[in-house]
Amino acid sequence: MKYMGSCHCQQVKFSCEFELKQPTVCNCSYCSKRNAILHIVNDITVYEGEKELTCYRFNKMKGAHYFCKHCGIFVYSTPPEPVYPYAISLCTLDECTWEHIPLLHFNGAAL
Ligand SMILES: [Zn+2]
Repeated sequence: MKYMGSCHCQQVKFSCEFELKQPTVCNCSYCSKRNAILHIVNDITVYEGEKELTCYRFNKMKGAHYFCKHCGIFVYSTPPEPVYPYAISLCTLDECTWEHIPLLHFNGAAL
């Protein structure tokens, strides 16, 4: 299914297509603080406001976490190791009901 998403201030808008099956929380030091409900996607299209994104890296500096530099909302990330293409936050999607699906607990702290 195709989903549309945005940051809070609407300067960054994106679309992505995936089958909703595994809402995920991660236990790495960053995810523990940002509290995002993640989902792996093969691709993401930022069709508005790509230049409004900025990137945060930590630890081995390999993973990239892109968020809106105006409102601070996380949009997508690429992992420190090539275990998945992209992760988005289900919370940023316009219409996505995931609350009925059990959360997968990902051991990102081990990466
Ligand atoms: Zn924003």
